[in-house]
Amino acid sequence: MNLLNDTLLNDYAIKLDELKQQGNLRQFTSNVQQGHVIEINSQKMLNLSSNDYLGLASDIKLREQFFDETPNELRIMSSSSSRLLTGNFPEYEQLEDSLSQAFQGRAALLFNSGYHMNIGILPALSDSRTLILADKLVHASMIDGIRLSTAKYVRYRHNDLNHLTQLLQKYHADESFDRIIVVTESIFSMDGDETDLAELVRIKKQFSKVMLYVDEAHAMGVRGEQGLGCAEQYGVIDDIDLLVGTFGKALASVGGYLICHPIIREYLINSMRPLIFSTAQPPMCMAWTDFIFQKVLTLKNERQHLSNISHYLQHAILSKGFDCPSTSHIVPVIIGESQKTVDKARQLQQAGFYIMPVRPPTVPKHSSRLRISLTTQVSQTDLDQLVALL
Ligand SMILES: *Cc1c(COP(=O)(O)O)cnc(C)c1O
Repeated sequence: MNLLNDTLLNDYAIKLDELKQQGNLRQFTSNVQQGHVIEINSQKMLNLSSNDYLGLASDIKLREQFFDETPNELRIMSSSSSRLLTGNFPEYEQLEDSLSQAFQGRAALLFNSGYHMNIGILPALSDSRTLILADKLVHASMIDGIRLSTAKYVRYRHNDLNHLTQLLQKYHADESFDRIIVVTESIFSMDGDETDLAELVRIKKQFSKVMLYVDEAHAMGVRGEQGLGCAEQYGVIDDIDLLVGTFGKALASVGGYLICHPIIREYLINSMRPLIFSTAQPPMCMAWTDFIFQKVLTLKNERQHLSNISHYLQHAILSKGFDCPSTSHIVPVIIGESQKTVDKARQLQQAGFYIMPVRPPTVPKHSSRLRISLTTQVSQTDLDQLVALL
């Protein structure tokens, strides 16, 4: 290696070393998964860090059924192009039709991932006469979308709809803005708490320039009679202008979707860069997502079980004296100090529960936590054993 290269690399090596010193170095861990069991370094543990909320990704029978029903000529593993060129296979339109039907006839548009979706929609729909008001804790992908846009940007206190209302009162009359987009999640990934969507819609209706953007990544499949998310649960599907979600979690697949007005859909097809300039997902993935989506619509009992064990765990954690903001299947145990949290996570892993510690900067200072994410494959007995160790 020449000297110049060494110097360049050295800068990064120093930064990595700093991360390591602070205990913040991130690394891949290889693992083997079978059902709800995850094996790491030949230790088998109950997987309590999975986004496979309905256990569908690990269901081998489902996979067999899908491949049996899909002949070789339909197992198309690349779309070879953006949808605007030659990539628009029938599987795309089929899945959009399914979504549109389920979501009360509204238009549906698909994206390669939730990340593509969130970095693409906001810049496409905003200009310098747009104000974005976002919950303090929205996912990094929405923050990146806001950063890529030319909109002005203000954050409101997490889940504080009074604060949001104050900001709307302040900015709605401001003539420098043509529109205000309010951005939030329904179920939040770190606290497992949720936005009161009915109240959010009620507030929005008082301000004519406002559009709502709600990310249901953690609620899709899990909430509502048919699993369409919190918007279905609270009867506000028609009232959320930009209703987005992902297929990579409960839906056991990959990709993102938007439910919106047909004009917004057409406008995004003409302006959204991650949609226009990226090869579309393989048609095979679309077919799989549609196959899973049809199943998910019927999984009422599974959703009920998940809800039951979630409430059970939330109560158990509170009665142990911990803070627990969760109202969902994502249940944090807030410990406070990072080192204590890391030690506790290690102890639980040794006892057979795969739970990860979450520390700053992912969460605010002094709120390090164990993040438990429940799936339908977890039983009440599992939780009793876990709670006894807390
Ligand atoms: C996981 C997640 C995403 C990203 O979706 P991918 O399909 O994994 O890219 C976006 N938003 C939220 C709230 C998420 O939790």
